[in-house]
Amino acid sequence: MDIHEYQAKEILAKFGVPIPKGALAYSPEQAAYRAREIGGKLWVVKAQVHTGGRGKAGGVKLCRDEDEVTDAADELLGKKLVTHQSGPAGKIVYRLYVEGGVAIARELYLGFVLDRKSERIMVVASAAGGMEIEDIAEEKPDSIVRISVEPAVGMQAFQARELAFALGLAPAQTQQAVSTILGCYRAFEELDATMVEINPLIVTEDGSIMALDAKMTFDDNALFRHPAIAELRDKSQEDARETRANDRGLSYVGLSGNIGCIVNGAGLAMATMDMIKLAGGEPANFLDIGGGATPERVAKAFKLVTSDANVEAILVNIFAGINRCDWVAEGVVQALEKNPVKVPVIVRLAGTHVEEGRRILARSGLPIIRANTLAEAAQRAVIAWKNDKSADLKVVNA
Ligand code: GDP
Ligand code: MN
Repeated sequence: MDIHEYQAKEILAKFGVPIPKGALAYSPEQAAYRAREIGGKLWVVKAQVHTGGRGKAGGVKLCRDEDEVTDAADELLGKKLVTHQSGPAGKIVYRLYVEGGVAIARELYLGFVLDRKSERIMVVASAAGGMEIEDIAEEKPDSIVRISVEPAVGMQAFQARELAFALGLAPAQTQQAVSTILGCYRAFEELDATMVEINPLIVTEDGSIMALDAKMTFDDNALFRHPAIAELRDKSQEDARETRANDRGLSYVGLSGNIGCIVNGAGLAMATMDMIKLAGGEPANFLDIGGGATPERVAKAFKLVTSDANVEAILVNIFAGINRCDWVAEGVVQALEKNPVKVPVIVRLAGTHVEEGRRILARSGLPIIRANTLAEAAQRAVIAWKNDKSADLKVVNA
């Protein structure tokens, strides 16, 4: 789960990371009021959206007086911000963060990620901050320093000092840099984050260290341990299809193809997507309905998949181990009888009680296209989708 910059800053500040003075605003008037509260002569109005690259996309505005703050807020609120990270759909700006402007002497990069290969937290830093880490890796690879943390002992002060030294910080800044780096590490570790990124971490003109931007991502599977973090979820920033699925306990990832997938098991769902591609189609989603695959879950899955307007065929692929194909078949039939779908439905059942499951589908009289193997199912789905499409075209052309 991602959170907003202002939320990440609030969390990191509790772990001793210095941040500029700032406050949240939902309207231009409130933004101006916040600027007055903060004081000073320079402010930054920042769009709060779950994506990076806001600066280049016009989502970060430097303002010199209250009128400029009002105008910047007016322009940003309700706007769809499309950055090179957001995807073409962009993210809508509903919240703004107003910050006191800071005079920057240097911009550094500081990141914490989970390195799955070494099973450790990896700390990444670079003196070439302000640009994306991918660009730094491409243009200034030598500037990147990495430190991996031994999980049994956690990050050590000497490691943070090494990073501060590699970043070329003066002795006067070392202490502050060390407590900032260790603070980020503790936040990452204690709150089950999967990513903490400060870009840029700055040295101000008067020589202090400050996090000017902050990004945090959390492990969804650990959120139950951190209810206060779970509450920070902002559904307005998520794919509506995924939010709906999450709320129903289904594991769903929206994609851009036309063949909707309803599968039990993540591995089988991945394999199903591969087979659809191999057969010349594009999956509309990844959907794992879980091992249970009860009639209720199947019905929910149908609702979810058909709510995506791009879906032009649906492939149901169930492998019943503990589950039973006849129950799943009942579920599919009930779901389709209650809410008929307008697109071709292809069902492949395998495993326990498969014969009875197939008989139930056949007896239902529903226009279900049946398949025995995964390859067959994917091919039939793609063919049915293409035929259905050309039939639609014929109607349009008639
Ligand atoms: P991002 O583009 O989404 O990563 O947003 P950032 O919060 O990193 O802001 C983008 C850029 O705006 C930073 O790299 C800074 O160069 C600039 N910026 C942000 N806040 C300030 C500030 O207080 N003063 C100045 N001078 N520049 C700022
Ligand atoms: Mn940034």
